[in-house]
Amino acid sequence: MALRNIVTVGDPILGKPCRKVILFDKKLHTLLDDMADTLYESNGVGLAAPQVGILRRVVLVDAGEELLELINPEIIHTEGEQTGLEGCLSVPGKYGIVTRPMKATVRAQDRYGDWFEVEGEELIARCFCHELDHLDGHLYTEKAERMLTPEELEEMMSEEDGE
Ligand code: ZN
Repeated sequence: MALRNIVTVGDPILGKPCRKVILFDKKLHTLLDDMADTLYESNGVGLAAPQVGILRRVVLVDAGEELLELINPEIIHTEGEQTGLEGCLSVPGKYGIVTRPMKATVRAQDRYGDWFEVEGEELIARCFCHELDHLDGHLYTEKAERMLTPEELEEMMSEEDGE
């Protein structure tokens, strides 16, 4: 297990589409384990392989309930709508307002290649959409209705401190 460097906005790798995972081997397992370390170290809720410089269709999501490893994921169903705050480990210090589905069902493979389906609501649904966008080279900043102003950011941070 090891930490990987997080690629930030401006790096062309974040704009490239990722290739499918074909080999469910030790190399993939090491990548998944390293990505989990990197996710927890950064206090994120999701991480996609291109964010650590790997152009493969691999995503991790952990919104506090369980760690989901999603290989070759696809969104197969969505329901409803939510509009709210979104940030990204690759776009440090910024937040935007983005509209996403309220519920999303993902079909993906696990680290051994077995297919499964998982449904997420609210933050998890938002995270599925955000992370899967990374695999096609898209950042939430392209979809944001607007970005928070420095004043709003400051207010948000001071509210967090008060909790
Ligand atoms: Zn992101």
